[in-house]
Amino acid sequence: MQTAICPGSFDPITLGHLDVIRRAAAMFDRVVVCIVANANKHGFFSLEERREQVLRVTAGYPNVDVDVWDGLLVDYAARFEQPVVVRGLRALSDFEYEFMMALTNKKLNPRVETVFLASDERYTYLSSSMVKEIAGFGGDVSRFVPEEILEDLKKKINGRNS
Ligand code: ADP
Repeated sequence: MQTAICPGSFDPITLGHLDVIRRAAAMFDRVVVCIVANANKHGFFSLEERREQVLRVTAGYPNVDVDVWDGLLVDYAARFEQPVVVRGLRALSDFEYEFMMALTNKKLNPRVETVFLASDERYTYLSSSMVKEIAGFGGDVSRFVPEEILEDLKKKINGRNS
């Protein structure tokens, strides 16, 4: 059984992420969204908050699971029989980093393949950082994130500003 692993920060999950997850779920037997802790980035939402958000947003996809991992992605992937890492590519600017990561992961564990999905044109400009920036200034992000997490964003921002 092939398992697609969609790794990332998902801080927070956007409609661009969701589009990639949805397409991976249509192509692979099983998809695991792997929320990876980043030692260099302090999260806006905690890992547990993000896990709960992704679970909520993907509740309608029976072959999608969510996990949190604090370590090397290849070590996480090694537990699956046929792991395929799925990453979304937005623009040429994503390419160099993604290509380097794919080759490095392959060196660390030759069983781990990486495939890239071209971002939907509606979301090529969309990132979690942009969502946080806009929401932080009170802007409307309802076109950028799943409806289910709009309230979480509002609450987090109000909590920070109070
Ligand atoms: P990371 O910090 O690992 O890049 P992100 O949460 O930013 O984590 O992204 C996770 C994955 O989702 C990456 O493969 C990224 O390229 C992809 N991604 C992010 N935003 C979009 C988007 N708007 N469209 C398609 N793919 C996206």
